[in-house]
Amino acid sequence: MGCQYLPMKKRNRRIYLVYLLVGIAMLTSVTGVVLIDRHYQQVAIDQARMNAETVTSLVDNARRAYSKVLSELKLQTNLVTAHDHAIKDGVIPNPATFSIELAKSVSSAKQRVWMYSYHPFPWRKNTAVPKNDHETEALTQLITSPKEPYIRILNDGAEKKFFYAKAIVMNDASCINCHNNHPASAKVSWKIGDTRAVLATESSLEYEQKFALWFIFGFISLLSLFCVALYLKKNQEWLLSEIAGRTDPLTKIPNRISLSEQINQQFSHHKETQKTLGVMMIDIDSFKAINDSYGHDIGDKCIIAVANVLTAELRTNNDYVARWGGEEFLVLLHETNIETAIAVADRLLSAIQKKKITKHNLSVTFSIGIAVANPNHVNSCEEMIRKADQALLKAKAAGKNCYVMNESK
Ligand code: GH3
Ligand code: MG
Ligand code: MG
Repeated sequence: MGCQYLPMKKRNRRIYLVYLLVGIAMLTSVTGVVLIDRHYQQVAIDQARMNAETVTSLVDNARRAYSKVLSELKLQTNLVTAHDHAIKDGVIPNPATFSIELAKSVSSAKQRVWMYSYHPFPWRKNTAVPKNDHETEALTQLITSPKEPYIRILNDGAEKKFFYAKAIVMNDASCINCHNNHPASAKVSWKIGDTRAVLATESSLEYEQKFALWFIFGFISLLSLFCVALYLKKNQEWLLSEIAGRTDPLTKIPNRISLSEQINQQFSHHKETQKTLGVMMIDIDSFKAINDSYGHDIGDKCIIAVANVLTAELRTNNDYVARWGGEEFLVLLHETNIETAIAVADRLLSAIQKKKITKHNLSVTFSIGIAVANPNHVNSCEEMIRKADQALLKAKAAGKNCYVMNESK
């Protein structure tokens, strides 16, 4: 027979390549989604920060300008300022009220702007104070470092919010004079540079959804996954056909094609390791008579029963059994010496004798020809099979249901 060697390594490499492709496709998809998500989040944060800086600068600069103009006007005129200017005639807002009202007027549904402090005037003691942990933290931080804005991304349920706070500083003497001398002031020890209050803004972080980009990206990901799936399917068909092509349809054990690969690999392995390889040729005794007496269907069942017994009795990992053809089987005994091969043959002969087949309680026997050799001392694997076959003929001649050893050193 022709011992054609089809390397297993090549097939394994193809399977690893498929795994690699699937891995790359999945990794690309996940990385892409994460990167796009991060990008949009960063864009939204940058935008929110820009808006917050603009609106808080606007309010604070307007406050400073208003305060400056007021202090000059007050020297020249009888100008009266008050927090409740709205209900009094001839009165205009004081700078704090002006800033609070300006902040309110530039607020929108998407961006709230407001002011608060630890020392509000009594008429604002319920509204202009910190209302939660991050507002308190912002005020505390801005009192110690007024120059750095306080920024937090807040999780409000499923929604994310951008919180930005800036210090309102006592910037000139007129502020100090007014606050330290006002009869309703909650604190009268203000100094220039102190953080009087916080100007805060909070906006919802809405991700810009670029659906076209998502669509293109999703489409490319799906397409690449589809290609991988196609490749996998083709590969699976190829794999199944490989398996089918190497399996005997009746007994479901390896066939002769598989055997030719296996024996070459085993031969090379034993050649390298200098260990002896055992080859057994097994043939069911007087099988023609079984076919003739019980029919081919029962004959087939006997062949299946023998295949099952051989498979069950051999070492699962290393030994190997294949259907050679008809009612003949070939066994490869991995790294096995003569003594062990004989022990295995005895075990197989006794196991098949005990086996009862079909409802007829039929039993069969077989004969075994054995060749055990170091592959360095024989020409080829075919020669080993020939030696086992010769031994089998001797076993048949010796009366069947026995083994004969063809010894080669
Ligand atoms: P011996 O003890 O010398 O081996 O005698 P035998 O009758 O077993 O030998 P022989 O080679 O003459 O007979 C083998 C028979 O096996 C002939 C063939 O019809 C039968 N056979 C081969 N393949 C199958 C199969 O797949 N199913 C069945 N039922 N019979 C088969
Ligand atoms: Mg035969
Ligand atoms: Mg036979």
